[in-house]
Amino acid sequence: MLACPICASVQTVKNGRIDNGKQRFKCQDCGRQFIEQPTKKVIDQATRELIDRLLLERISLAEIARAAQVSEQWLQTYINEKYANVPRQVQVTPKKKGG
Ligand SMILES: [Zn+2]
Repeated sequence: MLACPICASVQTVKNGRIDNGKQRFKCQDCGRQFIEQPTKKVIDQATRELIDRLLLERISLAEIARAAQVSEQWLQTYINEKYANVPRQVQVTPKKKGG
């Protein structure tokens, strides 16, 4: 369950939706209501590992995003960062230059 952004309690419950369809939550500890913030969504390690495995399969990014329940935009950013950080230790296949 989503942690409360005000008091960090995890005693939160779903509390309907707002007009644009975003999920609204209510904290049972402090009583505040808050909205899930997709732009600040933290993707946990288990999901990243799942994505890493899915990337080895020949399936589209859209399918990976759907399977891992992340946005395609986040997935693209993740991949960009991932490959930017990979040290060039082994170059088995020649790669195209300039993308
Ligand atoms: Zn709270």
